[in-house]
Amino acid sequence: MLSESIKTSSLETLAHTVSDVIVACDGANRVVLFNPAAEAAFHVGAGNVLGRSLDALPALEPIRAALKGYLPDGPSDIQNVSLAGGSIYQGRVLIVPGIGQVAVLSSAVQADERAKGQLAVQMGTIIHTLKTPIASAHMALDVVLAAGSLNPRQDEFTRRAQHTMNHMLRIVSELVDMTWLEAGEALQLDDVDLNELADAAIDQLKSDRIWRGVAVELHPSPDGCRVVADERRLSSAIVNLVSNAIKYSPNGGTVHVTLVSTPEAAVVTVKDDGIGIAPDQIPYIFDWFYRVVSPETRRIEGSGLGLAIVKAIVEKHGGEVTVESEPGRGSTFRFTVPVREP
Ligand code: ADP
Repeated sequence: MLSESIKTSSLETLAHTVSDVIVACDGANRVVLFNPAAEAAFHVGAGNVLGRSLDALPALEPIRAALKGYLPDGPSDIQNVSLAGGSIYQGRVLIVPGIGQVAVLSSAVQADERAKGQLAVQMGTIIHTLKTPIASAHMALDVVLAAGSLNPRQDEFTRRAQHTMNHMLRIVSELVDMTWLEAGEALQLDDVDLNELADAAIDQLKSDRIWRGVAVELHPSPDGCRVVADERRLSSAIVNLVSNAIKYSPNGGTVHVTLVSTPEAAVVTVKDDGIGIAPDQIPYIFDWFYRVVSPETRRIEGSGLGLAIVKAIVEKHGGEVTVESEPGRGSTFRFTVPVREP
């Protein structure tokens, strides 16, 4: 059996480390625990409330009302308590033997954020499952094309269908990245060779018809380019930048992907000689779902997610994305991945 003082001090230690509001009262309705989150929520210091009766503390009226409504046969929910500053809290009352009643409240907004995060994880899983059937259909068309018995019209339609599937796969990948970011999941850090990663990312785009004779030249860092990073997400960032560079290039243009390793960071640059971006559009292109609307971009497919994903992924790694662009002359996107200890 734990002694009462150990129980109280364990609860106190726990209460100091969580972001939930925790207020405990003894059998005589005196406040015996008031954690830092409660101080912030009620704008009252613990020193002003500890040892005093709840009945004599009008500032804690929502807690008094919640504890009064407690049902002795089990934990009872506290719904939508409005605290100072208008924040809405939800929680429950618990009975802790030897201490008394404990009210635990969390901000409804935080709870909402948590629920949104869980929904995003589930959405990500569902969206991810779309990849397999699309990829299988794409492969089936590969087999049809490889058989070589199609007339020119059938061949053209089959290739168009493959192009549509590639487009769908890109959108699915973007949605998977978006829901992953929305869920606030942690990076899966590994020792990553960016020279190899960029090569594989370019390779991944090869089956796509967006190329239209555009050449992609990789200039790896001669001294190697290793970083501790989330390989899969950085690959997404590079794929997005390179596919944009190809998409917005003229037929037969050249895209340069250059890697540089400095003691502080790896630097990835993707440069094209394409349509460029008007200066007044640059502040918006990294926004979610933003697409530049112009006669040049009208026929180019896209979702407006790519650059927002690149920015979020790079910033999650502690890096930065920049762009320099001139309409009609091309664009250069550059991002950094800071070097950190494995
Ligand atoms: P999209 O799916 O439309 O390409 P992005 O988020 O990747 O969405 O890019 C946002 C917008 O920025 C694009 O609609 C396009 O107008 C512009 N953009 C991005 N990359 C380039 C580029 N390399 N050259 C010219 N414009 C670009």
